[in-house]
Amino acid sequence: MPMFQKNSDIFNILAEGISEGIIVVNTKQIIVATNTSAEQLFGYEKDELIGKSLNVIIPTRYHSQHTSHVSNFIDKGKKRRMGQGMDLNGLRKNGEEFPVEAGLNPFKIYGDTYVLALVTDITERKNYTLKLEQTVQERTKQLTEALIKEKELNELKTRFLSLVSHEFKTPLSGILTSITLLSKYTKTEQQEKRDKHIATIKSKVRQLNTILSDFLSVERLDSGKVNYNIEKFALSKLINEVIYDANMLLKTEQHIQYPDNIDEVQITFDEKILGLALSNLINNAIKYSPEQTTIKIIFRREAEYIYLEVIDQGIGIPKSQQKHIFDRYFRAENALLSQGTGIGLNIAKQHLENLGASLYFESEENVGSTFTIRIPKNQETKKPKDDEETFTDRR
Ligand code: ADP
Repeated sequence: MPMFQKNSDIFNILAEGISEGIIVVNTKQIIVATNTSAEQLFGYEKDELIGKSLNVIIPTRYHSQHTSHVSNFIDKGKKRRMGQGMDLNGLRKNGEEFPVEAGLNPFKIYGDTYVLALVTDITERKNYTLKLEQTVQERTKQLTEALIKEKELNELKTRFLSLVSHEFKTPLSGILTSITLLSKYTKTEQQEKRDKHIATIKSKVRQLNTILSDFLSVERLDSGKVNYNIEKFALSKLINEVIYDANMLLKTEQHIQYPDNIDEVQITFDEKILGLALSNLINNAIKYSPEQTTIKIIFRREAEYIYLEVIDQGIGIPKSQQKHIFDRYFRAENALLSQGTGIGLNIAKQHLENLGASLYFESEENVGSTFTIRIPKNQETKKPKDDEETFTDRR
């Protein structure tokens, strides 16, 4: 450190003791003193930087800007920190750049002005900040997603509450009426009347149960928590069960026509899902058809698919609203006199599609509707000589 010959002992001890690099320049921006930390930081030998222009440790692209900066600063003669909050780079002898922060301290000695720069390598701090920023971004994203989920869940809850209060009232008051009447039929010969009310209660409880399961289905579908169970089963058994339940909902002189060609049919599919979809379609057919009508269930098979159709002679769906029928919570305007949530078809379709099947319809207002479930046959497992119908999950 030639410049400070006289007081070099004290200065050296101080200068060498600190981990920051010390660079002293004169007003011409020539380096006149450095400490070991500075030399190591910039990759120079001992005293190699002395006499060199400050520019050798600054990347070229900053030169003009930096030079005017420094002279400006020397004129004002105030202490200042550089590089805080902005990108300032140092240049190593081998051409490498690294981020630095520099504190500039102008001083006068023997009538000359100098600037002492304290240089800190902030690579690690920067990396840390970058990582921190990334973490913050990730966490923000997660939080936003959680918030959106939470919001959707809240909307679902609100809908659920309003639907429950609306949809539960009618069946509940029906149940209450039936129970009140039941308690009045005390005579032995009034068994028929009692049975009628018991049937009413059963059907209303089923109705409530359906609404609840539909809501649970929505929640499970949306959160991806559905487990399908593909098994081989007899189609006739399933259809019998579905029709048995639906019979309780039939209006006066409504009939369900059972398919006559399914006795031997075995299928491989998720039985519960097919049951859910079918009962949904049949319940709708009953609900949206007047008294004295027939609901037909048809089973068809073609080369690649099997079809289950539910055909009614009901109110039909207005053409203009047909495109929304599978939207969640959608109800056509001619359906509003009947109870409903607008959920059933939406979840039935979603489940069927998850399993490679499909659900579609044709309908004419005041004439009737045909809803069709189409399920692909599984060619691989089909036995040629067997008359069995086999198809399976094709996700
Ligand atoms: P919900 O019956 O509870 O309203 P769905 O999802 O089962 O809900 O049906 C959605 C809408 O589709 C119904 O509100 C009704 O407008 C229409 N719809 C469904 N099935 C039929 C049908 N068989 N005949 C006429 N309209 C129907």
